[in-house]
Amino acid sequence: MLRTHTCGELSLADLGKEVKLCGWVQKSRDLGGMTFIDMRDRFGITQLTFNSDDDPALRANARELGREYVIQVSGTVIERASKNLKMATGEIEIKVSQLDVLNSAKLPPFLIEDETDGGEDIRLKYRYLDLRRNPVRNNLILRHTMAQEIRKYLDTENFIEVETPVLIKSTPEGARDFVVPSRMNPGEFYALPQSPQTFKQLLMISGFDRYFQIVKCFRDEDLRADRQPEFTQIDCELTFVEQEDILNIFEGLVRHLFKNIKGVILNDFPRMNYADAMRLYGSDKPDIRFDMKFVEINELVQKKGFSVFDKAELVVAINAQDCAVYTRKQLDELTDFVKKPQIGATGLVYIRYNVDGTLKSSVDKFYTEDQLKAIADKMDSKPGDLILIMAGSVDKTRKQLSELRLEIADRKGLKNKETFAPLWVTDFPLLEWDEESNRYHAMHHPFTAPKPEDMAKLDTEPLSVRANAYDMVINGSEVGGGSIRIFNQDVQAKMFDLLGFTPEEAKKQFGFLMDAFTYGAPPHGGIALGFDRLVSIFAGLDSIRDVIAFPKNNAGRDVMIDSPSSIDEKQLTELSIQIKKKD
Ligand code: ASP
Repeated sequence: MLRTHTCGELSLADLGKEVKLCGWVQKSRDLGGMTFIDMRDRFGITQLTFNSDDDPALRANARELGREYVIQVSGTVIERASKNLKMATGEIEIKVSQLDVLNSAKLPPFLIEDETDGGEDIRLKYRYLDLRRNPVRNNLILRHTMAQEIRKYLDTENFIEVETPVLIKSTPEGARDFVVPSRMNPGEFYALPQSPQTFKQLLMISGFDRYFQIVKCFRDEDLRADRQPEFTQIDCELTFVEQEDILNIFEGLVRHLFKNIKGVILNDFPRMNYADAMRLYGSDKPDIRFDMKFVEINELVQKKGFSVFDKAELVVAINAQDCAVYTRKQLDELTDFVKKPQIGATGLVYIRYNVDGTLKSSVDKFYTEDQLKAIADKMDSKPGDLILIMAGSVDKTRKQLSELRLEIADRKGLKNKETFAPLWVTDFPLLEWDEESNRYHAMHHPFTAPKPEDMAKLDTEPLSVRANAYDMVINGSEVGGGSIRIFNQDVQAKMFDLLGFTPEEAKKQFGFLMDAFTYGAPPHGGIALGFDRLVSIFAGLDSIRDVIAFPKNNAGRDVMIDSPSSIDEKQLTELSIQIKKKD
């Protein structure tokens, strides 16, 4: 080995030892006739000293070292005169007797320090340098530790890790597929898995009983901070289980991770059905770190002459505690916020419950103070609070008020990153109506089983059929979802039919699964948790990019390796592909 120790392990217990260390020059400083160098590796930083009085030539060499040079030193462990107790190695230093430069380094394009001066673009271009920084490296170490704990837990629960193929055909998870042309089968394409959904179901039919895989999935959709075209799922499937068993096992997994990694003990996860989540929070992934539940107030405000409320399907409000002090300007900002095109509301009504007990609203013309007080009472408002009201069609208004609720929580600093509020959202609708394609879509995916008691409604009122599907939500972020599956060929055929597949299309795309159902398919169900998202929540980050070693940017590009990129004519010809020239 080129070293006897790492840069993170020597202490007073090692005084007097002759050691050899390797690492990168983090920084260097001169003090009188001495040069001090901080040498860094993955494990920590060790201080090196060079003294002109002892060896002027050696010290002169040390002064030549630049940032990020790779060096090897031999020397003696000595006690530091001025100790730094914040560092693991802060009580010792190495009195260097030999210095070898293993490699020089160009000046990095940004500071390799915890607080860097580099913007995201440059850091992604030089990601290998960014990964030298503690915060980014620590995120990946956290990711590693979580993966180990997940494997441990699932192994104890009798799950078997099985790899499934990457070159497959379309799995409908609601996004576009990435496709790969086949050279050996001209004009034909593989699709990359949006998830291993069909394979894990086949493994259940094979009798594997409990499967898991920490697996890459690929979805071609527009990117956001918490989305990447390739991402990692903790994908699981179980046989002979009911929904309740799955919720318990995976709640157990997440509690195991919180306990062992963060030392946080979580209570039982509350359960909320989809209908309640939408009614009380306007979202199927409610952030329940804070309250501010929706209160529907149609009967208190309609038929009083205010036409906006009168013609609305829903009038719904939240109570922003202690926000009566908001100035005119702040209220205007909130109105502008809900009117942003992404949110699309036409306006916002407020009632200010002043500390002196008087009530003042933006629609005073239509309501007496007593009527305002009745609203405040229904909202459980106290003097000092601010009531915010929105009105319109049910679905849209709920979505808009949900955005406003989150905005108020941001302004009030209620999104504490060290508070963790998990829950299960259950009983999702099986289907949703898609205006654009004018047909039903599976809300989860086409393999999700309807609730047995709703089965009869499949023919009569498909939209009111609930699915045996569930999502795990933490702090307003969907960290996973799954369902009990259809395991009967006829029910699966009916589902494809409802989704608008002709029997021929269904057979072409999923014939293998329908066939498998005829060979003794057991009842089964499963779940997939978003691993990147889970790690980012543990790391207290908003973006999943920082927990991925080599992520893509917002345009789906890897700017370091410059991908995607064009390929040469010869490759295209081999693949029987012609590129249409841009007009
Ligand atoms: N395949 C599903 C998904 O990726 C998860 C599941 O149903 O197990 O969302």
